[in-house]
Amino acid sequence: MNEQRDATSGQGRLPGRPAPAERARLRAVLDALPEPVLLIGAERRIELANPAAIELLGPGLEGTQALAHLRQPETVAVLEAGFNRLSDPTAPKGPFEARKIVSTASSETIYRLTVAPLSPEVGFAGLMVFFHDISHVEEAEQQRRDFVANVSHEMRSPLTVLAGFIETLRGPAKDDPVARENFLSIMEREAQRMTRLVSDLLSLSKVESSEKVRPRAPLSLSEVLHATLAALRPIIEDAGIRADFTDLPDAAPIPGDRDQLVQVFHNLIENSVKYGGNGGRIEIVMARAESVPGMSGPALRVSVRDFGDGIDPIHLPRLTERFYRVDGHRSRAMGGTGLGLAICKHIISRHRGKLTIRSARGEGSTFTVFLPCA
Ligand code: ADP
Repeated sequence: MNEQRDATSGQGRLPGRPAPAERARLRAVLDALPEPVLLIGAERRIELANPAAIELLGPGLEGTQALAHLRQPETVAVLEAGFNRLSDPTAPKGPFEARKIVSTASSETIYRLTVAPLSPEVGFAGLMVFFHDISHVEEAEQQRRDFVANVSHEMRSPLTVLAGFIETLRGPAKDDPVARENFLSIMEREAQRMTRLVSDLLSLSKVESSEKVRPRAPLSLSEVLHATLAALRPIIEDAGIRADFTDLPDAAPIPGDRDQLVQVFHNLIENSVKYGGNGGRIEIVMARAESVPGMSGPALRVSVRDFGDGIDPIHLPRLTERFYRVDGHRSRAMGGTGLGLAICKHIISRHRGKLTIRSARGEGSTFTVFLPCA
């Protein structure tokens, strides 16, 4: 029998547990909620735990002491504040919120725990405890902080160089035309580096803000590749490497943003020359892909392959992150900003396409872009 006890409650002499009929109704409601919810009685025992709460905290919760499962000091404090409010209606009425971290061997999830004292109308004294997953919010906040720190770091070194040389040109090198020329060309290079960084940052923010709107205008991918290769011809020739392009001239037009796709292939081909050019040649192959995992229909595939040093597999999962570089010195020396692949990833995702990277040390790298046909 489900005994009814009186809690010393500020809500009159309300029972500290739900009556059987009330309990069944509450269970039906709680079970329908997608996020973990606990109902705790005035005796601090868990009366009800919905399936999401059982998945989070483990089985056998009902009937046990709530504080045994919610032991972090911050969560204990909000539960105590909730119980306090139950027994004393003049106590602060909340909101009672705490941050709770749930760790497993492979992951860590951060929840905002909200404790809500039930209103007297439900007929018993108890607390409802909600768990709201805020991991993605905290992660976004951390990414924003990292981004600001990275941008500041990238800007600081060219600015330091410029400030240093201005001082030198005003003082010791004032009357030395050879040194002046030398310093001015270094200053020019650093100024160009900042210009590239600012222009990549603007591209990134533009692509991110347009990412939800899928481009519709039909374009010829073959023409995009021809134009990109023509623009990169001087760089390819300077590097003394061969570029082989296997075209698919009769491919039907696909929906796309021409400038953005030029930017994608410009970045990928330029990278293959910059980082893989010592292999002596690069290959660009355009083909049709009837089925691509993760995509619903046929796609056009463009792979950009080099035969250079390749990339250690440990770097591959992070390569498209902003400012991620395998070798920061080498990238900066080549005028890289560390944003190229991040921009590519966003543009391809705006086109509902896919980017895959295959590489092995000493065997070169292949960057493949899949773009949906319709
Ligand atoms: P960056 O401005 O540094 O070139 P990207 O985002 O274009 O920035 O590339 C990120 C990093 O990925 C580069 O710094 C480089 O270390 C690595 N990378 C990109 N493409 C290649 C490639 N074809 N071969 C070897 N490493 C590459």
